[in-house]
Amino acid sequence: MKPDSIVSIHQLNYAFGQGKLKRNVLSDIEMDLQPGEIAMIEGPSGSGKTTLLTLIGALRSIQTGSLRVFGKELLGASYNERVCVRRGIGYIFQSHNLLSFLTAKQNVWMSLQLHRELSKTEAETRAKSILAAVGLGDRLHDYPDSLSGGQKQRVAIARALVNRPQLILADEPTASLDSKSGRDVVELMQQLAREFGSSILIVTHDARIVDVADRVLYLEDGRLTRDEKNPNGIPSDRES
Ligand code: ADP
Ligand code: MG
Repeated sequence: MKPDSIVSIHQLNYAFGQGKLKRNVLSDIEMDLQPGEIAMIEGPSGSGKTTLLTLIGALRSIQTGSLRVFGKELLGASYNERVCVRRGIGYIFQSHNLLSFLTAKQNVWMSLQLHRELSKTEAETRAKSILAAVGLGDRLHDYPDSLSGGQKQRVAIARALVNRPQLILADEPTASLDSKSGRDVVELMQQLAREFGSSILIVTHDARIVDVADRVLYLEDGRLTRDEKNPNGIPSDRES
């Protein structure tokens, strides 16, 4: 384990159910994620990808092994400690999870409310500028229902990134998008994360976006079976 790892996992096992119904879904997971690194986890449906991501995201309690996020051990962490870790994380889910009764700008602004040191004007400026950065500067006052799938997912990215989180966790962010929008959305995440120095962990089985990653891990039946740097040989900092 390197001392400044953003995520560091050792001997992690996780099971659903109790007694006879107990079923292991993650076994002997070892992995780390360095600052600024973009990693993807690929694997078939049911292999445990979402479970792993929710554990790393401190959205679920770990049972055995060690899982450190920002150096903080999550095994045995209290609710408040987990909330504290979550503040440093931006989440992007398969379906955008935007609030339909709030406009694009209000959805992003909501996420900023956690950062109380910002004045109303500062929050407003930040929400507007991140929406402009994802190409939605002219859709600030639109409600999610009037946006396309790709646009909604871009609002979700803006919402996850507006706090400049150290870590971004994305669960199949391109699943509901066509290949062009899917690619755009992931490249946008990559570009903003590089700008903010954030690390990204993306769970996907979308082979079309894999070359955006610095590193690809494979999860099969609850085990990490491969961990490869730039499998397609494309340097992650290429100019395009
Ligand atoms: P993936 O995201 O790779 O499709 P998941 O992490 O969602 O996989 O699921 C891994 C396994 O755990 C699956 O067999 C799934 O049925 C099971 N599972 C997921 N969530 C629960 C739950 N809340 N209770 C019981 N089993 C679950
Ligand atoms: Mg899943």
